Amino acid sequence: MAGDPGLADIIEKGQDGQVVLLGFPYDTGVEINGGRVGARHGPEKFRSWMRRYGTPDNPEVNIDLSGITIADAGDIPAGLPLEQSHTALGEKTASIIQNGGLPFVVGGGNDQSWPNACALLDAKPDNLIGVINIDAHLDVRLLNDGRAHSGSSFRLLLEDSRFSGSQFIEFAAQGSQVSREHADYVKEKGGQIIWYTEVSRGDAAAEAFRNALGRLSWKCDSLFVSFDLDSIRASEAPGVSCPGIMGLRAKEAFQMAFAAGAHPKVDLFDLSEYNPVIEEEHTGRLAVGIFYHFCLGVASRRKAAS
Ligand code: MN
Repeated sequence: MAGDPGLADIIEKGQDGQVVLLGFPYDTGVEINGGRVGARHGPEKFRSWMRRYGTPDNPEVNIDLSGITIADAGDIPAGLPLEQSHTALGEKTASIIQNGGLPFVVGGGNDQSWPNACALLDAKPDNLIGVINIDAHLDVRLLNDGRAHSGSSFRLLLEDSRFSGSQFIEFAAQGSQVSREHADYVKEKGGQIIWYTEVSRGDAAAEAFRNALGRLSWKCDSLFVSFDLDSIRASEAPGVSCPGIMGLRAKEAFQMAFAAGAHPKVDLFDLSEYNPVIEEEHTGRLAVGIFYHFCLGVASRRKAAS
């Protein structure tokens, strides 16, 4: 609209951008994990809400997204068997990173986070990689008959010889949705769990998240932030495969997305479990808002560096 552009108006097709959007339209991993399917429609609905939200030049925070380039690389082709979809995603994410772009991958199921983590490990073999998983769950379940699924991504990562648990933080996990065995497993691997109740007071979540980024960046060269929308309370994010009654607020999610975008070592971000079959509009606007605030953060990063 003249004089009133939206976020979608400044996004170029292709993969040549500082931030590169990529869709993973799959919920096979959710189905294998026993969850409600529908997240395969996430990327398509995400793009349709992107046309209705997000002023590129934000006069409130005084950041103009025209200072960075944002590209849309489209989706991984739909309908592949799970293992092939993961291979295709890993290759595409790695190629974006190798091309100098910062991928923002929209799922789809949280199983996308394992191929995405591998993409960063493959693209930056000399870097020490740190990972923060923002999630109500730990996602360290065992494979199901040898198959990866939406609850196994971070077990696969913690079992990988290229990665150490001391570079891993589970953020806003909820004890009512996590087994003792899995919590013990993460701790035995050297990972840290920051429980939701520890960050639920006042504005503690954003501050705790910035501290977590700072702690990992102190020892790591490159960071991957993985955001499961089910870490946000169901009243604000109803359209997810497994809604939780309590959880982060939308405002906190935006503050955290901004902090991830603004951090100079964050090289990869993925957003999982938007399920528009369960609820489309509210959760769609929230998912796009996370992308928008991430981009504002990236724009502030470039500003600080110049
Ligand atoms: Mn998850």
